[in-house]
Amino acid sequence: MIPATRTAIERDVARCAELLGILFTQEQEFTADAEAQSRALSMIIRNPELGRIFVVEIDGVIEGMVMLLFSVSTCLGRKAALLEDMVVAPAWRTKGLGTLLINHAVDFARREGFGRITLLTDRDNEAAQQFYRAQGFAQSEMVVFRKLLDDGTVMNKSESDTWMCRECGYLYDPAEGDPESRIKEGTPFVEVSGHWSCPVCFASKADFEPFL
Ligand code: FE
Repeated sequence: MIPATRTAIERDVARCAELLGILFTQEQEFTADAEAQSRALSMIIRNPELGRIFVVEIDGVIEGMVMLLFSVSTCLGRKAALLEDMVVAPAWRTKGLGTLLINHAVDFARREGFGRITLLTDRDNEAAQQFYRAQGFAQSEMVVFRKLLDDGTVMNKSESDTWMCRECGYLYDPAEGDPESRIKEGTPFVEVSGHWSCPVCFASKADFEPFL
């Protein structure tokens, strides 16, 4: 029953995506898309220079997560981090897991020489704001602006385009499919069976990543 924090690894992706699903149904600006969340989580876990995902486990089950995405502050002349996707499973809220996760992330950032952590939260989520204030975060005077770069191809790339085998570099082209494995031409990668494997090296479907 003692919560343990650690860095997320590849096999945590499904559970973390599930937690993000809970978070995104709560937040106003975001909608949950398990496939997009899994893709992003894997991207971070496989590329530690992008950031770090921390999870808190109770009896071997992940009940909360938070991540730091890495950037640079020219003002400070140091690394800076964006704290994102802080979520605790509903049954475990108000039991100190959030504080554990934040402390873990802050300790990590200090140790690694980061000069600042920035985070965004919903304007009307007073509870979250109070929580972050209690963790030593102060509200910034800055205003958040966004531009979504979705021209209809970027976001849907994984559904419509080429995927690459990480093991051997084979490219799955949906226009061709994989006739030898009875994957018809025109089959998007997401619709290829999970039992399908790379026709060249037999790596599993999970070993493929979007070829951008
Ligand atoms: Fe392969």
